[in-house]
Amino acid sequence: MSRFEEEMRRLEGLGPKEREEWQERMKGLCRCPGCATYNECTARKKELLFCILGKSQDCQIEAKVCDCPVCKVTDELGLRYAFYCRRGSESQLP
Ligand code: SF4
Ligand code: SF4
Repeated sequence: MSRFEEEMRRLEGLGPKEREEWQERMKGLCRCPGCATYNECTARKKELLFCILGKSQDCQIEAKVCDCPVCKVTDELGLRYAFYCRRGSESQLP
């Protein structure tokens, strides 16, 4: 089992409040707002943590660079991909 799968299994064991706290902590670490691909639409909708929550729901996003590889969440969860805002969450990718 990959590190990401282990982390997701651990999260499934958390209660709703703990899970919410975990998500807020991860959002605090998310580097998307400083990334050149993050645009006015995603900022207005306060979208973050695409790696877990999935791609942007309503915004058209033009790919520029992706800061995910240097994000602490990538380290913490063992993420393997990038451009989650356009491609979908880690668990949705091959
Ligand atoms: S890996 Fe990317 S999408 Fe996930 S929290 Fe970090 S910057 Fe945001
Ligand atoms: S997922 Fe990657 S490309 Fe998209 S806004 Fe976040 S850091 Fe930038």
